[in-house]
Amino acid sequence: MLPTNAYAAQSATTPLAPFKIDRRTPNAHDVQIEILYCGVCHSDIHQARNEWGGSTFPMVPGHEIVGRVTSVGNKVTKFKAGDLAGVGCFVDSCRECENCKQGAEQYCDGGMTGTYNGKERGTGAPTYGGYSTQIVVDENYVLSISDKLTLAGVAPLLCAGITTYSPLKYLGVGKGHKVAVLGLGGLGHMAVKFAVAFGAEVTMLSSSPSKKADAEKLGAHHFALTSDAATMKNLANTFDFILNTVSAQHDYSVYLNLLRTNGTMIVVGVPPTPATVPAIQLIMKRKSIIGSLIGGIKETQEMLDYCAEHNIVSEVEVINADQINEAYERMLKGDVRYRFVIDTASLKN
Ligand code: NAP
Ligand code: ZN
Ligand code: ZN
Repeated sequence: MLPTNAYAAQSATTPLAPFKIDRRTPNAHDVQIEILYCGVCHSDIHQARNEWGGSTFPMVPGHEIVGRVTSVGNKVTKFKAGDLAGVGCFVDSCRECENCKQGAEQYCDGGMTGTYNGKERGTGAPTYGGYSTQIVVDENYVLSISDKLTLAGVAPLLCAGITTYSPLKYLGVGKGHKVAVLGLGGLGHMAVKFAVAFGAEVTMLSSSPSKKADAEKLGAHHFALTSDAATMKNLANTFDFILNTVSAQHDYSVYLNLLRTNGTMIVVGVPPTPATVPAIQLIMKRKSIIGSLIGGIKETQEMLDYCAEHNIVSEVEVINADQINEAYERMLKGDVRYRFVIDTASLKN
């Protein structure tokens, strides 16, 4: 076993605090990674506070992990000590179902093994995430990271990046499409970057007037304040796609109204309470709603390579591990520009 420093929630109602975990001794197919940075996703908050139900404690959150390989098992072929490596939202899957075979492990029929708040296949041991100094993962679930980009800015690509890249690719979003991104946080800012890079005309829909200048800096062509009734009225029947990243309860109908005929709302945000969708809003102009969950290993690698080639990283505010509870509170207020990333050097002692 490898003793490892971490930060954990002991229950849904207690703040995160220092905690010691044991990583497994690497087996033949494992890669041991010294974690350098770990992004802070809103899903970490939902799970640490058990907002979706089914959380297990103690919980070490974190699924936007970049680091350096320190050792590899004797059957590992894709990595060697010294390589940069990444780990995203899952660390295993059944490897046999149709989804796994097609490289969509996130949709594994047997359930993907979450990087944290999950159970290791076989041993049933709890999985612990990236708010820690090292992790041991089977090489098939580890990503290669380019040394061309700043590592802190790469970490959020492992979740916020792939979660927005994947549905835009799946739906062929690009030139000639009018795309709205709803919610300018971690996912939202990556959605803007990708939609712009793919050639779409992008409008940022935000509840925060203070984010207008940033939205434009990120490349958005237009900015609309969702609380401004006149603007929202003008935008009715406008968009081919709305990428909905909102983390809190909100009324889908308000935004479905902004889709043109055959328009699609892509839901990636996961508010803890269900949304109501009036049938009339879908049928009147043949609109649809599609959900999307992160992305498979192959597509995540494709996204990372695309980012290295196009110089795309996340805009980050690097924090020490002991600032994590404050970072959660700021995210809940929409006060994040645009991803907190833990420098895990702060966990070393
Ligand atoms: P985040 O950084 O906290 O950003 C969420 C943004 O939503 C906020 O910055 C805010 O943007 C907007 N917002 C928050 N409350 C709102 C409200 N009441 N009404 C309208 N807008 C509101 O969160 P994130 O990390 O991007 O995650 C967003 C959601 O996606 C979470 O629910 C998370 O669990 C989920 N998620 C899903 C996947 C997936 O695979 N599908 C992957 C990762 C995360 P403005 O200030 O611009 O309004
Ligand atoms: Zn996430
Ligand atoms: Zn499977």
